[in-house]
Amino acid sequence: MQAEKLQAFVLSARDYGDSDRIVSLFSLEHGRLKAFARGARKSRKRFGAALEPIARIDAQLRLKAGLSGLQQADIRNIYPGIRLDLNRIAQALYACELADALTPEGQPLPRLFRLLAAYFEHLEAATAGEDDRRFFELNLLNILGYRPSLEGCSRCGNLFGESGALLLEGGELACRFCAASGRHLEELTLKIMRSCLATGTFGLIAFPQQALEQAGTLLDEAVAAHAGRRLKSLEFLRQVNS
Ligand SMILES: [Zn+2]
Repeated sequence: MQAEKLQAFVLSARDYGDSDRIVSLFSLEHGRLKAFARGARKSRKRFGAALEPIARIDAQLRLKAGLSGLQQADIRNIYPGIRLDLNRIAQALYACELADALTPEGQPLPRLFRLLAAYFEHLEAATAGEDDRRFFELNLLNILGYRPSLEGCSRCGNLFGESGALLLEGGELACRFCAASGRHLEELTLKIMRSCLATGTFGLIAFPQQALEQAGTLLDEAVAAHAGRRLKSLEFLRQVNS
């Protein structure tokens, strides 16, 4: 079987036995894959520093359902700027863990690959803030088909308009006729979130503080509902930010 050449991000890596590593990759061609890197701990010749989370690599893999064989990995970008700053490391690791937790195995999602690339380029170029993290989360949920209903009530379909929306469990948004209670999200917050989905470019949209908090509450709910597990990198990100 011929090895296939792929472009990929390293989402996570863990040691296996004395000499090997198992990595989770997000590839342009096949989406998320798990791969076995034989000898990666013993000899750094074949893989070097390429098997570190956040790295963008050119990989050669023998594809196999469940666990592929990683033959070679060459660094395309190690993102040295991100690695200089704890906040940027925390954001990038969180993006990796989210992609790891939320994407199906072996399913190509080229838009998500481009979103990760754009996020890392943005983090590499400048210190990034909470706006960027929320921008990433929202676009990720959208690509995966988990987009919150930002235009109208998820129950009756009526447009939200000036009265805004109420946030229910799991990140659902409803109008005040369909929901008795819930955290209120203003129309401005919903509008800014809609514009996040209309542009693929990081850094163009700024959230006023209140809208950032409201969007954050919604996205935290929605991410937790879909991730199905506690995200370690989210704890780390919160510690770094506090
Ligand atoms: Zn309604």
